[in-house]
Amino acid sequence: MKTEEDLFHNVCEMNVDAYLDDERYGIYTYLTEQKKNGRIRHLGFSCHGAMPVLKRFLDAYGKDMEFCQLQLNYLDWTFQGGREKVALLDEKHIPVWVMEPLRGGKLARLAPEHERLLKALRPDEEIPAWAFRFLQSIKSVKMILSGMSDMEQLEKNLRTFADERPLNGRETETLLGIADQMLSAGTVPCTACHYCVSHCPQGLDIPRLIALYNEHAYTGGGFIAPMALGALPEDKRPQACLQCRSCEQVCPQQIKISEVLADFSAKL
Ligand code: SF4
Ligand code: SF4
Repeated sequence: MKTEEDLFHNVCEMNVDAYLDDERYGIYTYLTEQKKNGRIRHLGFSCHGAMPVLKRFLDAYGKDMEFCQLQLNYLDWTFQGGREKVALLDEKHIPVWVMEPLRGGKLARLAPEHERLLKALRPDEEIPAWAFRFLQSIKSVKMILSGMSDMEQLEKNLRTFADERPLNGRETETLLGIADQMLSAGTVPCTACHYCVSHCPQGLDIPRLIALYNEHAYTGGGFIAPMALGALPEDKRPQACLQCRSCEQVCPQQIKISEVLADFSAKL
């Protein structure tokens, strides 16, 4: 069967070693051969991994990739490092196809105070449309995959995409400010400064674990954190924390790291 597009699915911490081990698994060889044979017209990849995974994959196969399907929206612009990921893809001239533009529907409705801020800037714009306008402001975004569950959502999306109305600087700033406020509830304000890491007798990658904790807490579960943790050796997971609190002595944000990791273990 001929396909228009094919992709390395969900490149992430769990599978990147297998994807890159072409001698053993031959996935790259198989897919690039199918492209040469004309069975695949466009070859790309989707990615839920963090920056180090994306970098490794692009260093190996970036020259052959024609698109990257990425979870991207105004929350994940900072929360999941969307800005840095898009910049790296830009360097390689790889267009972005967006997954989760509305973050599983979380961006379709906002708190009343946030909706008021947006209405003051664009009275006619519907709230979900702000998420799409944000994406229209990113030049390398060429496709937006929006899940729709009824006719009304389809009609609204058609109205939104009837024109391109990218955001100006002030609108972007307001939207990202709203994202910061949304994320501050229920997440831990780690700045990834790494001061704590050298103080951990277990050698835990504390900022990475906290980033995954935040993802898990904000999403209310989901697959990303368990998937990323599953790729770590057991002695590097939150459960390996000794509760010694030596990391907490140096944290400029005064984060109760031991409690966060204990809570993460309990949640998992
Ligand atoms: S409390 Fe846990 S994370 Fe912090 S230094 Fe001790 S073992 Fe490491
Ligand atoms: S010292 Fe605190 S803010 Fe810095 S990386 Fe560690 S937990 Fe995060």
